[in-house]
Amino acid sequence: MLNELEEFRRKDIPYSRVLSSMCTTPHPVAVEAHRLFLETNLGDPGIFRGTWELEEKLMRLLGEMLHNENAAGYICSGGTEANIQGIRAARNVMRQKKGVQKSNIVIPESAHFSFEKIGDILGVEIRRAGLDEDYRVDVGAVEELVDNNTVALVGIAGTTELGQIDPIKELSDLAVERGIELHIDAAFGGLVLPFMDDAPDFDFKLDGVSSITIDPHKMGMATIPAGGILFRDGSYLRALEVETPYLTSKSQYTLTGTRPGTGVASAYAVLRHLGYDGMKKVVEKCMDMTTLLVEEMRSLGFEPVIEPIMNVVAFRTDKAEKIKDELYRRDWVISTIRKPKAIRMVIMPHVNEEVISGFIQTLREVIRAV
Ligand SMILES: *Cc1c(COP(=O)(O)O)cnc(C)c1O
Repeated sequence: MLNELEEFRRKDIPYSRVLSSMCTTPHPVAVEAHRLFLETNLGDPGIFRGTWELEEKLMRLLGEMLHNENAAGYICSGGTEANIQGIRAARNVMRQKKGVQKSNIVIPESAHFSFEKIGDILGVEIRRAGLDEDYRVDVGAVEELVDNNTVALVGIAGTTELGQIDPIKELSDLAVERGIELHIDAAFGGLVLPFMDDAPDFDFKLDGVSSITIDPHKMGMATIPAGGILFRDGSYLRALEVETPYLTSKSQYTLTGTRPGTGVASAYAVLRHLGYDGMKKVVEKCMDMTTLLVEEMRSLGFEPVIEPIMNVVAFRTDKAEKIKDELYRRDWVISTIRKPKAIRMVIMPHVNEEVISGFIQTLREVIRAV
């Protein structure tokens, strides 16, 4: 049986040939922590009271990192669930506060596809605002889409396609002015920006920000699944609660019932083990590798769509799909974006000089072939 399992596993492509994923090889301390918490279920916190306490501690750690000691939240399955819960809380709060019934939200055109699911599941109308020439949301366009039924704006700190950061300060001012919620999708950037010098404000430091998605299973090098949702305070969690008979707790604000404690343990382990300086080094290395990749790509005639802000970069080419397919045939994985046509790479902690030089060598071959 084990041989059979290994056989299937061998068919997977190792991360050392993957430049498309926002996930990465977990940090060794994350693996150890995961192992220790293997059977934990935070769906029943009265049983797993130590794991529950650890989650609270992790929330304080993340909250302080995001400039808010009162932040409240939990570790979930990923950015998708975090975004669902962020918008669900905003909808419920605005229903209670202002009686809004036919809710809508205004999101950037560059938002992650999870918002499609959110519109469908929550029955909230999704309004998409256009971008400026740097692929940041156009705040004027956002303002035009806001009406009395708007419950929330969404800003992205690290877009999935380009790693771009929306003008969060302006979105925050608009949210305060109109008395609506502001959800920040920092699924990727939430564990990059705090460790960069001169990063713009994107978190609870800004008055209008009500919730933040921040995923330890991306740049936090935690084991999958480990997404994160943090709210400005506990009142948003109250707006998500349902009663739970037959459990050790009386109510539950999470979306899933049974949920692993492994993400809590592995995320905490990495942050505690590396600390601020260690995380900063990881981010710096990813940015150095991004710079190296851009240099190599420029020497092959490719230009980045925008100068990379984070460790995500896309290069314009009309042959994007073709290049991606040819690379995949050679067991290298990148991705593409449609607007503008480009190939896209994410430079995660597993990407080092050796990975880049191997990739560039194969890319040269592919260019000759296409
Ligand atoms: C990755 C990502 C998501 C989705 O996260 P999952 O963990 O895949 O559910 C949402 N938003 C942004 C900006 C992301 O980068």
